[in-house]
Amino acid sequence: MTERKQNYVNGEWIESATGETVAVGNPANPSEVVARYQQSGAADAADAVEAAAAAADDWAATPGPERGRILREAGIRLAERKDELTNLLVAEEGKARAEASGEVQRAVDIFHYFAGKASDLGGTVKSPSAPNQHLYTVEEPVGVAALITPWNYPIAIPAWKLAPALAAGNAVVLKPASIAPGVALELAEALDDAGLPDGVLNVVTGPGSAVGTEFIEHEAVDAVSFTGSSEVGQLVYEQATDAGKRVQTELGGKNPTVVSESADPAEAADIVANGGFGTTGQSCTACSRAIVHESVYDEFVDELVDRAESVDIGPGAEHEMGPQVSAAERDSTLEYVGIAEDEGATLAAGGGVPAGAEVESGYFVEPTVFVDATPDMRIAQEEVFGPVVAVIEVSDFDEGLAVANNVPYGLSASVVTDDHAEANRFVDEAEAGVVKINEKTTGLELHVPFGGFKRSSSETWREQGDAGLSFYTIEKTVYDSY
Ligand code: NAD
Repeated sequence: MTERKQNYVNGEWIESATGETVAVGNPANPSEVVARYQQSGAADAADAVEAAAAAADDWAATPGPERGRILREAGIRLAERKDELTNLLVAEEGKARAEASGEVQRAVDIFHYFAGKASDLGGTVKSPSAPNQHLYTVEEPVGVAALITPWNYPIAIPAWKLAPALAAGNAVVLKPASIAPGVALELAEALDDAGLPDGVLNVVTGPGSAVGTEFIEHEAVDAVSFTGSSEVGQLVYEQATDAGKRVQTELGGKNPTVVSESADPAEAADIVANGGFGTTGQSCTACSRAIVHESVYDEFVDELVDRAESVDIGPGAEHEMGPQVSAAERDSTLEYVGIAEDEGATLAAGGGVPAGAEVESGYFVEPTVFVDATPDMRIAQEEVFGPVVAVIEVSDFDEGLAVANNVPYGLSASVVTDDHAEANRFVDEAEAGVVKINEKTTGLELHVPFGGFKRSSSETWREQGDAGLSFYTIEKTVYDSY
């Protein structure tokens, strides 16, 4: 029988008030139902917020090292269940086992990192202008934080919001994406087992329009952290600011890799293929534009096409590249293939669905390369969110930089070059929150800030590292005369 998963509210696993559930299938084999989840409504969300609000003061008063101990203990429990969680992630989201296993490990590492940070919270001491005075700051939790997360990193992203929120002493309500909510519920299970007090974390599954909206607008919520598409993010940002909340939104990307005339075309093709086809192109930081100097263009294209055609596609449990997460995502990618052809780009690799028994029923697409793309084409301007790279030819580095910046997004950008001056100019002038030299656009360290420019982010707060704690804390300045 299909497992029926419940919401986690006030320390209890409960059914939603709607009485409805929704099935989540395996994108590699959609007839296989992985689990059923609560299709919750606004009333369930409100109950969760009220549980968080009731638990917030006691959790804020819990010493940081004790909060850290619970996070560390939860991290240990997640690590003990790494294989099981990896299997669940592969089954629900579809990514390849190595990628899924790395993502589960990332969640473990994030919990351990912020467990340490919980002891280091404090403030700064300054020299006062008067004698017999202490002048210092203290960092306090914001209160109740609402977290809304996407399906593409279904355990890492909830973890990178949840761990700093809890470490800083906030109570939390979390709504994971409906497409792959299973592993986020497992974070709650691990924290519950680790002794997190009732009500400090509440997880409610269901549609964004009902659960998400209630989280954003409920008067007891103080801060809203959202990761997802730029379209929904814009709406969430407006709703949250209208409701007077602190808000951060981290959104889509159209990430370039600029290939200089000094680059080795084979190395550049490795970097672009890894960034563009890894995680089936379903990373916010995925490379979707290769902007290539004319002197290395032909050789680079040959190398990239070779790599696209040699990717081993199939169910993520056994293959290098899994399916897209849903029929809608696959169809959207295939629609962009048609749009690119209509606009005059030349299909050089892929562009369709693969053939073969193992891939006939899942949401698979081929790694796809378009050449002769121009910067104004939709394929070069809009987020595709599948394994599609548009190759654009340029005649010098300045033109490459201008093309790289000429999009509404600014999440991650990389350059492949042996020229030190070009590398430094790229760092200075690339309009992106993450800039990489001789590296793929994907892949992040957990202890440095992450966030975008332009349409990729609200640009209000950064996530991860020390910066990740700032969103969840508020400073108080103390003048103490004695
Ligand atoms: P999405 O915007 O469709 O959904 C994200 C979350 O918002 C889900 O939980 C969804 O249920 C919820 N939601 C939907 N409508 C809502 C509403 N009206 N009010 C409140 N919540 C609502 O995004 P997705 O398809 O899950 O994820 C893919 C997108 O996320 C891509 O654009 C990708 O680039 C982006 N992304 C960004 C980052 C980053 O850190 N910048 C990381 C991962 C993914």
